[in-house]
Amino acid sequence: MQLEEKQSLVRTYYRTLSDAWGPQNWWPAASPFEVIVGAYLTQNTAWTNVEKAMANLRSAKALSVNGIRRLSLTELERLIRPSGYFRQKAQRLKIFVDFLDRKYGSSLAKLFARPTALLREELLALNGVGPETADAILLYSGNHPVFVVDAYTRRILARHEILPAETPYEDVRRLVEEALAPLAEIVQKPGILSSAPSASAVPPAPHPPTIMSASNRTALPQIYNEMHGLIVGVGKGFCRKSQPLCDGCPLQPFLPRLK
Ligand code: SF4
Repeated sequence: MQLEEKQSLVRTYYRTLSDAWGPQNWWPAASPFEVIVGAYLTQNTAWTNVEKAMANLRSAKALSVNGIRRLSLTELERLIRPSGYFRQKAQRLKIFVDFLDRKYGSSLAKLFARPTALLREELLALNGVGPETADAILLYSGNHPVFVVDAYTRRILARHEILPAETPYEDVRRLVEEALAPLAEIVQKPGILSSAPSASAVPPAPHPPTIMSASNRTALPQIYNEMHGLIVGVGKGFCRKSQPLCDGCPLQPFLPRLK
């Protein structure tokens, strides 16, 4: 399959899912720092466990840069225990806050004012920050135009024979980013990409709107934001690891064997 065909398919998937399900309200958080904490805590665990850990931090009034800084490591471990790998994650959150304090005077605004590529390198150099975590922080917390590649993205692209499952992260990211970039020019025209969900669609349960999901974004990050949310919806609702539920999946018409 030629690159142009792959890109065209990715755009078609975006339009199809967006028309079927509408906004997915990612990321579920009340502040940019909450996004960052969530991006760390969601590694290797289900979001329901992250929510319990976040609730503990909120109750302890520690869901802020100052809050994480003032907690002892032991207390932070205790509060985020429900998210699993809590010792590792507590240490990594402390490292992030220390990095923010030292390099950016504790200011997320200064951090996110950095050019995307440079900031991405800095984040990737931090202990415990891989590409998916770095990109989630850049996109959802910092409004930087990067697409977050997750296991669902790889699975869907592989099953539709667009990219092999073992394709390197950066190659998947580049394909989706370049495919969706042209849509940024028309995303804000009413009725083109913001249509109401179709009546026949059976959407997954999207997150309820939050301060961060409803925050003002530039067009390209907004498209990458929506695409990631829509892909998570496909992955959770239909494209299961062992047994995909293709019947009812909005992407079924694009399965290679049905062409
Ligand atoms: S569930 Fe089936 S149709 Fe839907 S994305 Fe997965 S493989 Fe494609």
